[in-house]
Amino acid sequence: MKGLTPSHHRTIKTQNTRMTRADLADRLHRPPSPIVALDCPLAAAQGVGLWVKRDDLLFAPAAPALCGNKWRKLKHNLLEAQAQGLEHLLTFGGAYSNHIAAVAAAGHWLGWHSTGIIRGEPHHPLNPTLQRATEQGMALHYLDRTQYRAKAIPPALAAVLAAQAPHYLIPEGGSNALALKGCEELAHEIQDQCRAAPPTHLLLACGTGGTMAGLVAGTPAHTQVLGVPVLKGGFMADAVADFLAASYPGRSFPHWLILDGYHRGGYAKSDEALRQFIQHTHAQHGIPTEPVYTGKLFMACHQLLEQHYFPPGSRVLLLHTGGIR
Ligand SMILES: *Cc1c(COP(=O)(O)O)cnc(C)c1O
Repeated sequence: MKGLTPSHHRTIKTQNTRMTRADLADRLHRPPSPIVALDCPLAAAQGVGLWVKRDDLLFAPAAPALCGNKWRKLKHNLLEAQAQGLEHLLTFGGAYSNHIAAVAAAGHWLGWHSTGIIRGEPHHPLNPTLQRATEQGMALHYLDRTQYRAKAIPPALAAVLAAQAPHYLIPEGGSNALALKGCEELAHEIQDQCRAAPPTHLLLACGTGGTMAGLVAGTPAHTQVLGVPVLKGGFMADAVADFLAASYPGRSFPHWLILDGYHRGGYAKSDEALRQFIQHTHAQHGIPTEPVYTGKLFMACHQLLEQHYFPPGSRVLLLHTGGIR
């Protein structure tokens, strides 16, 4: 199994000069990502305005996979890890996960250790996500699907992890309370940028629902937050409600809704119509999207417009969560 020996990590550690919290906060500081108007005849004919919040443009040049909502979700976790003196990130994810890519990029960028526990059998050769993660110093371990689901770490792996401890643990997909905090900041950033005319609808793609929960918590009730799950299974409303209940006990949030039925067959399932839509979006608006998350989001928005979902006068803001690097 790859990456079982911690020796390589130990060398990086000794070369690493410790950053102060202010240094790290400074490196994690970014100006607001732009909001751009979309010129869309279908929307205009209905009196609906369409904008995109370009969080795909939010990234560290030296760590392009640390981008979009992965940036928002990791920011406060990185600050917390450093505050606890834990410059070793440990996390879980699928073999193609943007979250794994983002954590590996963050570790490399900051000179920290990173370890990824990957769902499924070892990949030979490594897929591009895992290849890149390895090049960035992430140690990879694999758990078969049953063990992964049960979070049942075999004794040999547990011993390896214990020998490298302590780590800063980030859950699968990165959705914890500090991730939600970063997404609340995103909501506040949007409010600041749209003071004169706040959006009536905020539309985003959902994987775990963590980004949506943070966004709902930070968005005033005059804006409705609409989540488009990219997985099938109909569990997203419960997932978002659970995140909200866990992070904001006692508060109630009436202004959100999950729109199921736009996943196009399930997670990472793609089809010709989606591929064409993505090409069209790029050609028409100069905005890159990808088939797993944002392509499905933009296509869902188009279908909603075809159904006259948004009342005349609506101002619809699409959140581009990144995923293209
Ligand atoms: C991970 C990811 C999402 C899903 O975010 P959740 O907080 O898990 O719902 C959406 N878009 C992109 C581009 C992502 O990489």
